[in-house]
Amino acid sequence: MSLAINGGTPVRTKGFAKWPVFDELEQDFLLRALKSGKWGGVGGTWNGEEPFIPRFEREFAALQDSQYGVSCVNGTVAITVALQALGIKPGDEVIVPPFTFIATATAALAFGAIPVFADIEEDTLLIDPVEVEAAITPKTKAIIAVHVAGAPANMTRLLEIARKHNLALIEDAAQAVGARWEGKGVGAIGDMGTFSFQSSKNLNAGEGGIVLTNSETLWTTAWSICNVGRIPNGGWYQHEMLGQNYRITDIQAALLLAQMTRLEAQMKQREANVALLNRLLSGINGISLLKLDPRITRHANHVYVFKLAPDLAQRVNKEEFIRRVAAEGIPVFYGYVPLNRTNAVLNATKDWLGEERVYECPVCERLCNSEVLMLSQSVLLSEEQAMYDIAEALDKVIRSYGS
Ligand SMILES: *Cc1c(COP(=O)(O)O)cnc(C)c1O
Repeated sequence: MSLAINGGTPVRTKGFAKWPVFDELEQDFLLRALKSGKWGGVGGTWNGEEPFIPRFEREFAALQDSQYGVSCVNGTVAITVALQALGIKPGDEVIVPPFTFIATATAALAFGAIPVFADIEEDTLLIDPVEVEAAITPKTKAIIAVHVAGAPANMTRLLEIARKHNLALIEDAAQAVGARWEGKGVGAIGDMGTFSFQSSKNLNAGEGGIVLTNSETLWTTAWSICNVGRIPNGGWYQHEMLGQNYRITDIQAALLLAQMTRLEAQMKQREANVALLNRLLSGINGISLLKLDPRITRHANHVYVFKLAPDLAQRVNKEEFIRRVAAEGIPVFYGYVPLNRTNAVLNATKDWLGEERVYECPVCERLCNSEVLMLSQSVLLSEEQAMYDIAEALDKVIRSYGS
């Protein structure tokens, strides 16, 4: 079979699922927010009715088994708010994985806290607790676990390490709405958890974020940071600490509440498609699937991540491989570049510290350069046939490299 990139017939010409998904329900919720005339999120009621923001905060916190939620403008700010609520100061070190969206590191750098990279586990791509312990210095104040692609990191071990060394533990759960570790909702296991509702995430309002916690004190502090230093039930011009205006609008909360009603069905569809893809791809020589810790009791399946097997990866240029698969009608993407090699992070670190920092994360660097590939999130909401097409295209392209 000749490759589509060489003029052959592509495996798939049909597109993938449309994203976002919405109908009259979103329209109805948005109209209610519109007609209330109370678009801002500064509290109060609409003629005795509860506005959407407090309801969303309560229902989303409950979804993840958390007691308190503070909504905010995006998932990046949510991480900054969590770090600051936990007392992290400029110059403090925060241990993060290099295999994540840049915001995990820049949320610390935004106010002068320094991200320190702990390499990832080869077979899960999640932060390696052994590397976390090795990265602890007298300046370390926090660990950020990232539940990459919706797979919870090893929270049991990370919590033990955090307690032993008296460090704060934050969960960056931007990709993990609905995920569970040992039966417990992510974002509610560490001291604070953060989520993003940016348009590519599994639950979206275009933009948005939330910080979760089970501590009333941390909730109050996070609330103040997001509300220009006001305190809950305090005066309008009573400012007790440094804060910013990080509030979302009731219009966003209306959209999020409507989208939340679709979440369970979408999660089930993602699960079914992932199970099928896992079965199909495990039969292809040249592909390695990620390992799943059995303590992951629910995976959010935000994006589908897989690897080229090491022997194939050695012979293949990852970018050329992606072009061949794309020509077959399958949008595979390159995925993250290691944050410990990202100029924005290195330059900002140097600016704050006055000296350069070098981090070696050999596992992450090798996997990113040659092995890791991803399928974007809406692909997992497509029809079953799409999974067969993905597997067929990958098999076809892998065969084109010979054995
Ligand atoms: C998307 C994302 C963020 C940032 O969220 P925004 O809402 O885009 O600011 C942070 N961390 C991870 C892991 C993400 O995927």
